[in-house]
Amino acid sequence: MKRTLVEVVLALALVGAGVFGWLNWQKNQKNVGQLTALQAASDAAAAAATKSLQTSGASAKAAEEQAAALRQQLAPMEAQLQELAAAKAGLSSGATLTDLQTAYKSQKELSVDRQVGLAALMLLTKGSKDPATLEAFRKALQVSDAGNRKNTICAAQIALAAGGEKVAVSSDCKPQSAHGEAKESKTEVAEKTDPHSKAEKDGTHPKAEKDGAHGKAESHDKDGKKVALHATPHWGYDGLMGPERWGKEFPTCAKGKSQSPLDIRGPFVKARATVSADYKEGPLKIINNGHTIQVNVAAGSKLRIDSMPYDLLQFHFHRPSEEKIDGKPMAMVIHFVHKNPAGKLAVLGVLLKEGNENPGIKTLWDNLPKGEGPEVSPEGVNFNPGKLLPREFDFYSYEGSLTTPPCTEGVTFYILKATVNVSNDQVTKFPFPMNARPVQPRNGREIVMN
Ligand SMILES: [Zn+2]
Repeated sequence: MKRTLVEVVLALALVGAGVFGWLNWQKNQKNVGQLTALQAASDAAAAAATKSLQTSGASAKAAEEQAAALRQQLAPMEAQLQELAAAKAGLSSGATLTDLQTAYKSQKELSVDRQVGLAALMLLTKGSKDPATLEAFRKALQVSDAGNRKNTICAAQIALAAGGEKVAVSSDCKPQSAHGEAKESKTEVAEKTDPHSKAEKDGTHPKAEKDGAHGKAESHDKDGKKVALHATPHWGYDGLMGPERWGKEFPTCAKGKSQSPLDIRGPFVKARATVSADYKEGPLKIINNGHTIQVNVAAGSKLRIDSMPYDLLQFHFHRPSEEKIDGKPMAMVIHFVHKNPAGKLAVLGVLLKEGNENPGIKTLWDNLPKGEGPEVSPEGVNFNPGKLLPREFDFYSYEGSLTTPPCTEGVTFYILKATVNVSNDQVTKFPFPMNARPVQPRNGREIVMN
């Protein structure tokens, strides 16, 4: 609950000056309000940084940077920190809320921004489960003009959903928070503060809030995925659709006993299998599917496990690495996904360690699709996946699952002990700040090692 509350506060803080516009009612209070918003955002970013520190080095850095940027914004207003302390005291005692309610009493109808501002203040004072808070957000939804109030509506819907209300969060509100952390948030800020892009976006989805199916079907068209209304649920790596909630739509993710990834640590069992790769060059086919960058591979590239051939279907990236070795993640990991003629899946994991530039990844990043969308095949660009493999093929191996919904089990993982380099710049250029599922319980599984 604490976490969803932080998300709501962050979401509200990001809505920015619009939401806190109600502070104009008393000039003196205005700066205090901004400070409160910034402080909340800064605290949330700091909390995110702490959380990320426990799970991933790379995303922690991004969150720390975000926190630092917010703190910098905070600095020039240092003189008013005392006022902030007073405001905070007023907040916790409910005095600020009472003041505002008194000031609004004479008004027949509040503007949407003021109504959301009032609800936000209730949220901060009374919490997200208080009936008055929920009522205030409900009212904000009622007075909203759906057409050009998308951000307001999203904030209210997210707050109500976090409060346990059965409110459908519009599909347009979802993807932003679904896929990542710092970078996505920045996009969201840009969108929210730039009226032009906002108007453009709302223009393309005039009734997205009321007509979720329409927006959904359209986005599936764009993704090149099947067009099915309400059929494909959204999932992501953070927030309302983060890994801890995948199990609601995809039961195996929560109930499976052989889930991936694992924190790889002893005791190990001696491996008998031998593994070798025979990958071939072919035309580059690359896609940003909204969850990762994936390269689809033409038939002919094979992995041999005890001389049994598995066809390489595709490979994709996670940042940071999903697998940990003795509790430590690497900067990234590449998962090479294979299937044998009987339909059995095997994933070869190559850990990427921060160091020199990787020429293979350079070719891929030079040909990255601009954003989420269908597969692209840049004219005349060939690629050999073998370029991304280390020379040594010693590995750790265990029985696991897909690391993304639907988390299907029966996938054998081979994580190579030898790492390959990726430069810091290349890690930063990967368009997903965090797309790693947390490590899963081992449940007595053997990890073999050669
Ligand atoms: Zn993967």
